[in-house]
Amino acid sequence: MTQAPKSLPALEPVFLFPPHARLGVVCAMHEELSGVVSLLGGEACQVGGRDFWQASWHGVEVVAVLCRIGKVAAATTVSTLIHRFGITHVVFSGVAGGLARHVQVGDVVVARHFVQHDMDASPLFARFEVPLYGQSLFACDPFLSRALAQAGEQCLATLREQGQDSGFLAGLNLLPRAWTLHQGLIASGDQFIGSDSQRQAILKALPDVLAVEMEGAAVAQVCHDFGLPFAAVRIISDQADETAHVDFAQFIAQVAAPFGAAILEALVQSLARHAGEGERPQGASVDPS
Ligand code: SAH
Repeated sequence: MTQAPKSLPALEPVFLFPPHARLGVVCAMHEELSGVVSLLGGEACQVGGRDFWQASWHGVEVVAVLCRIGKVAAATTVSTLIHRFGITHVVFSGVAGGLARHVQVGDVVVARHFVQHDMDASPLFARFEVPLYGQSLFACDPFLSRALAQAGEQCLATLREQGQDSGFLAGLNLLPRAWTLHQGLIASGDQFIGSDSQRQAILKALPDVLAVEMEGAAVAQVCHDFGLPFAAVRIISDQADETAHVDFAQFIAQVAAPFGAAILEALVQSLARHAGEGERPQGASVDPS
């Protein structure tokens, strides 16, 4: 193998989105998926009590599905996506509670890893370890996650420009602030975290957790089992404390649904641009021939 001359900058890893790839898009709540479906179009077909929408979105084959709430529902749905719909990549979009204090309503979190905060088979296995896997953290795909984070940043930039005039924000009692994109650990469990004591208990045991929700770790585990690249984005709908229920429905319908769909659309557009070719390192010249 020829070594690159020392003077050249290191190449960034290549992100390849193959032309035959088929992206599974998963949301847990009706409001979250409706924004995607209205952009996708097409007809739904039902398998295992779930509606699956198949369409080409900006030239990318997409299968979108509402998995419903909780880890079991999410795992079975993704399994169906893999076996009946032949998806090759998975992206999850939805809302979550901001567990870390700096993760606030309206912020966007792209997952790097997932953990199940309600997994405890101790003393046989360490707390949080998924039995017989020897691990408690399940990683997301770094390249798909990077593309998703870029899509999120792009949409946040638009939102910041529009400020309070944005249709997303109209009527919501949110202070104008620089909404931020975070990347890191998300915890999933079959509980809605709606009290400060629950929030503190999770943070005490898992201090790195940014956000809490109810599906992602299950999807990450299924994707790990089948070797599928997985990425997840969550828009923070609440602070996972006593204020959690305030305006939750309104926030999802008015902000999270259209905003989540916009992030997914930006992701799909970027995947379409990179379909079948490696993403070129910044500054490298591209031969147009
Ligand atoms: N009170 C809501 C509950 C919906 S369940 C209602 O009646 O409609 C919450 C959904 O949003 C799940 O899909 C979960 O992934 C996500 N979520 C948002 N905030 C959450 C929180 N604080 N704790 C757990 N899940 C949360």
